[in-house]
Amino acid sequence: MYVRNKDKAAQEAGFHVRTVRLPPTTAQSDLAGVVRGLNEDRGVHGILVQLPLPPALDAAAIVDALDPRKDVDGLHPRNVAALAMGRDGLRPCTPLGCLEILDQNGIALAGAHAVVIGRSMLVGKPLALLLLERNATVTVCHSRSRDLPGIARTADLLFAAVGRARMVRGDWIREGAAVVDVGINRLPDGKLAGDVDFEPARERASAITPVPGGIGPMTIAMLLSNTALAAARIEDRPALVQETRRAAR
Ligand code: NAP
Repeated sequence: MYVRNKDKAAQEAGFHVRTVRLPPTTAQSDLAGVVRGLNEDRGVHGILVQLPLPPALDAAAIVDALDPRKDVDGLHPRNVAALAMGRDGLRPCTPLGCLEILDQNGIALAGAHAVVIGRSMLVGKPLALLLLERNATVTVCHSRSRDLPGIARTADLLFAAVGRARMVRGDWIREGAAVVDVGINRLPDGKLAGDVDFEPARERASAITPVPGGIGPMTIAMLLSNTALAAARIEDRPALVQETRRAAR
C-alpha cells in the first residue's frame, strides 16, 4: 500500500519513478549492490528503501550505504546528526508532514507544550527534535512512561506515534489541544485506525488529523518535497533550493 501510494503520487507530480522489487530471499550484498548502483546513477536524485526489510537483512547497514544526499527519507546517520545539530540535511518525511499540517492550519508551535508519544528513529525522536527547533517545549513519552494520560492532558499539541489502535482515549486530550495521529493500525475487520480514539478526541480537540487521510498523505507530500530539494542540491542549483524550501514551508 505504501509503495503503491508513493509511486502514484510521485508520478502525478511529474517525477520519474523507478520501483526496484527484490525477492525476500535477496542477499545483503545484492541489496547493497542495488543501493550502490542507485547512488552512482546521475539520473537518480532520491532513494527510498521501503522498511521494514525481511529479518535476515541488516536494515541499518543498507541505510548506511545510501548516499546521504539522496536519502530522501532522512534516515542516514549523517542526516540524523544534521537534524540534531541544526545543520542542513534531509529531514524524515513523517515528522516534517506533522509540522507542515500544523503550519498550514495556522497552529503555532513556538512556546507550545508538545507531547510526543513514541520515540522511534522514524517518527518520535526526529519529531521531537524538529519541534524543539521550532521552539516548542517538548516532552517525549514511551512504553515506560508513568501516567501517560496525565502527561498527555498537559499538551497543547499531542502527537501519537505508537502503533496501538485507539490507545489515546478522548479524556487524555486537553480541551482545545491540537492532535496529530501518526498511527496506522489494521483492525481485525480490515479497516484502518489511528492511535487516537478519533470520535471522543474530536469533541475536545481544536484540531485533529484523521486516519486514514491525515499524516499518511502528508508523509508522501514531504517525500516529494525532499526529493525536489535533493535534486536541487545535487545539481547545485541554489535558487531552486531556496524555491523548494519556500514551497515546503
Ligand atoms: P515503533 O518503531 O514500533 O515505535 C513505537 C513507539 O511507541 C516506541 O517508542 C514505543 O516505546 C512506544 N510505545 C509502544 N507501546 C506504548 C505504550 N503502551 N505506551 C506508550 N508508548 C508506547 O513505531 P513507529 O515506526 O514509530 O510507528 C508508530 C506508528 O506510526 C505505527 O502505527 C506506524 O504504522 C505509524 N507510521 C505512520 C506513518 C505515516 O506515514 N502516517 C509513518 C511511519 C509510521 P518504546 O521505545 O519504549 O518501546
